[in-house]
Amino acid sequence: MKAIYKADKIFIIIYFVIICSVGIFLFFLSDNNYRILIFTLLTEIFYLLFSTRKYHKRLKVINTPFPQDWDNFIKTKSKFFNNIDDKHKKRFINDIKIFMSEFNVEGIKGKKIDEKTKLLIAMGIATVLNGRPDWEPPIRDSIVVYPGRNFDENFKIGEGNYAGMAPLNGPMILSKDSLKASFENQTDGYNVLFHEIAHYFDWEDGEAEGVPAVRMLSNTIIPWKKVIYDEWEKANKGQSFLGSYAGKNQAELFAVATEFFFEKPHLLREKNPELYELLKNFFNMDTEKLIPY
Ligand SMILES: [Zn+2]
Repeated sequence: MKAIYKADKIFIIIYFVIICSVGIFLFFLSDNNYRILIFTLLTEIFYLLFSTRKYHKRLKVINTPFPQDWDNFIKTKSKFFNNIDDKHKKRFINDIKIFMSEFNVEGIKGKKIDEKTKLLIAMGIATVLNGRPDWEPPIRDSIVVYPGRNFDENFKIGEGNYAGMAPLNGPMILSKDSLKASFENQTDGYNVLFHEIAHYFDWEDGEAEGVPAVRMLSNTIIPWKKVIYDEWEKANKGQSFLGSYAGKNQAELFAVATEFFFEKPHLLREKNPELYELLKNFFNMDTEKLIPY
C-alpha cells in the first residue's frame, strides 16, 4: 500500500488545472473582476486540502515509529518477514501500520477485538501484498472475527467445518482459533487468511471462478483459466497434491493454491510449475526463493 498512488496524483493535478482554467476564464469574462481570482484561489486551496487528506493521514501513520511489541510479535510470528530483505521489510511494516490504522476488524455484533488478533490479520495482508506495493487489499467491507475454531452455514459457532468465509457482499469472516493455528504452523499449506483473501481477489470481477481477472493482464486470462481448470480436474478426481477441497470448484482451487504458494512453494512448483508461475506473476514474488523452509 502507498500513501498516494500515481493515478490519484494525476487525477488531483487534472482537477487542479481545470479549476484554475475555469477561474481564469471567468476572470477575463467578467472584465477582470479580482474577486473571481480570490474565489478561485480559495477553491484551489480547499480542493487540495480535501483531496490530499488521505495522503497526509497515511503519511503521518507511516512516519509514526513502529511499536516495539508489534515488532517483537511479527518477528516471532512471521517466517516470511524474517526472510525478506530490508526493502521488503520496510514495505511490510508500512502495510501493517496502514492496516492497523485504517481497516475495521471487529468481533460479532461489533465487539472489540484484541490487538494481537488484528496484528495477525495485518501480517497476513502484508505478506500477500509484499510484492505489490501499488495494490490495496481486496477487502470490500470489514473483517469479522468469530470465536472458536469453526462455524456452520447458519453461522453457528462451534458447529460445522467453516474456518472462514468470503461472501461477495459482506465482511470477511475468520474464526479466531483457526487464524491463530494458521500462523502457528507456516509450512503446512493451511492458512485461512490467505485462503479467504484469494477469494476476494477472485470476487473483484463479480464472479468466483478462480480467475482474479481485475488485477491481471488481459492476455494472461485464458492461459490462467486452463492451468486452473486442469489442476481442478485432478483435484476433483482426488488426484491433486492440493487435496480434495480444491476439487470443490475452481474458486477453491485458486484459494488453496494461494495457501500453498505462501506456505509450500517448493511443493507447488515441483508438482505444477505452470500454476506456480501464474501465482508468482500475480503476486509478483518468487516465494520458492524467498522462503527457504
Ligand atoms: Zn474457500
